[in-house]
Amino acid sequence: MEPERCCESGCIPCERDRDGAAPLDLSNYIGGAFVGHSGDAANEHDWLNVVEPATGYRFARAPLSGAGDVDAAVAAARAAQPAWGALSFGQRADWLDKIADALEAKYDEIAVLESRDTGKPISLARAVDAHRSVANFRFFAGQIRETHGGANERFEMDDATNIVVAKPVGVAALITPWNLPLYLLSWKVAPAIGMGNTVVCKPSELTPMTANLLMETIHEVGLPAGVVNLVHGDGAGAGGPLTAHPDVDLVSFTGGTATGAKVAASAAPQFKKLSLELGGKNASIIFDDCDLDATVAGVTRAAFLNQGQVCLCGSRILVQSSIHDEFLAKFVDTVEAMKIGNPSDESTQLGALISPQHLDKVSGYVALAKEEGGEVLTGGYPCLPKEFEHGNWLAPTVIAGLPHDSRCSTEEIFGPVVTVHKFETEDEAVAIANGTRYGLAGSVWVGDLDAGRRVAEKIETGMVWVNTWLHRDLRVPFGGVKDSGVGREGGRWSLGFFSEPMNICLKHD
Ligand code: NAP
Repeated sequence: MEPERCCESGCIPCERDRDGAAPLDLSNYIGGAFVGHSGDAANEHDWLNVVEPATGYRFARAPLSGAGDVDAAVAAARAAQPAWGALSFGQRADWLDKIADALEAKYDEIAVLESRDTGKPISLARAVDAHRSVANFRFFAGQIRETHGGANERFEMDDATNIVVAKPVGVAALITPWNLPLYLLSWKVAPAIGMGNTVVCKPSELTPMTANLLMETIHEVGLPAGVVNLVHGDGAGAGGPLTAHPDVDLVSFTGGTATGAKVAASAAPQFKKLSLELGGKNASIIFDDCDLDATVAGVTRAAFLNQGQVCLCGSRILVQSSIHDEFLAKFVDTVEAMKIGNPSDESTQLGALISPQHLDKVSGYVALAKEEGGEVLTGGYPCLPKEFEHGNWLAPTVIAGLPHDSRCSTEEIFGPVVTVHKFETEDEAVAIANGTRYGLAGSVWVGDLDAGRRVAEKIETGMVWVNTWLHRDLRVPFGGVKDSGVGREGGRWSLGFFSEPMNICLKHD
């Protein structure tokens, strides 16, 4: 069943409001106030429709902000920075804890909004998005308090002492994607302001709801005006002016590799500090001594969590030839048993894709896989109740028989589509895993942990899990190599990025 389209650009009917209800109009948050944007509020083209991916209903509108709005937000952040940066680490950590407490009280609201805005299952939105958003503020509060911003290093000389202090960088631009909206925004806001910077956030135009909720929360707890600002809008109109703004000192960007290149091109000539967390095409490597049932469960989760729309998803499954057929049979059975549908149903395991355009892109890769010689073992458009007929749906799709260097096997699809490949030896598995321009993550499923560790070290990525996936300790470095990014986030790496180390050399008498 082809999803219905209403216009040339492929968007779903914009004016489909549930029961004729007027959409909620969001505002920018600048200098401690919710403010309208510089566009014409009466002109519908100056707004971005916020649509439920599961149903196609519009339920909100976000301002289509422009360079003037970005200027105002950056000016507010700049004005607030000196006083905020002068607070102690402990005082700023207390603010992070206050935000965590207030967010925690909205746990269910976060989950419901995130599920509605992204189309992801409510159980996932609660366990992952709501949970991590609160945890991010708490974690960085604790870390900054304990380590004084990581700046407690001293280097003794015979006649002098060097003391390294961490100073704020200034105004930070924080740009985030649609797949884990508040999870990723809070992952940047908490360390950025905790280290004494002030920020301007630009969430994805597709998923602005929980960014708005964070601004409401920050407003309620009384965070000093201008410390956190938010400008809604699209990449070209708001994101571009923000990264290029001469009064922005650092840019933390999470999103696609092509956009990351544009962000780098605009930020680099001004020597801004830059962190890029980009796309991935991660391998799940399965050896024949693995615990097969646990591996099938783990690899299925790695493949299809959030409809495969996680940068870390294991979208290339490499299986040692002696267990390939047995694995594949069990894997396909498990995938076909997954429950897809109503995101607000607690038992749903797979929801909708983010947008009709994204569904087209993902479906296009399935068509390409057939041209490239692949066989679709399971997948297609699911049969769902009528209320979801305008949603963006694709069943979890498994493709076998593709050359491991085909486009579908090496390019990021970012949807519920995986390719399965056979290998004979460890070296062959590593070569296939490394045969992509991406280098974000990977997983190894193996009985012999020494072999798992050995293989992990040979994979050209920033992160590898052995016999697990997305098992996160917030203290460890997170990020990619090759086209998957520049820099690391997480723990002291985030604190380091959001600060400038300064050495003070004290000569003894
Ligand atoms: P995207 O299209 O690159 O957009 C990311 C953000 O950048 C959005 O807020 C977008 O705004 C904004 N943007 C677009 N053009 C811009 C420009 N010229 N200047 C500044 N900002 C601009 O990515 P996406 O489709 O939202 O997210 C999916 C991608 O993110 C995937 O590739 C995925 O792998 C990656 N991702 C990576 C990580 C990681 O940690 N490595 C985590 C999550 C996702 P609009 O939405 O308004 O266009």
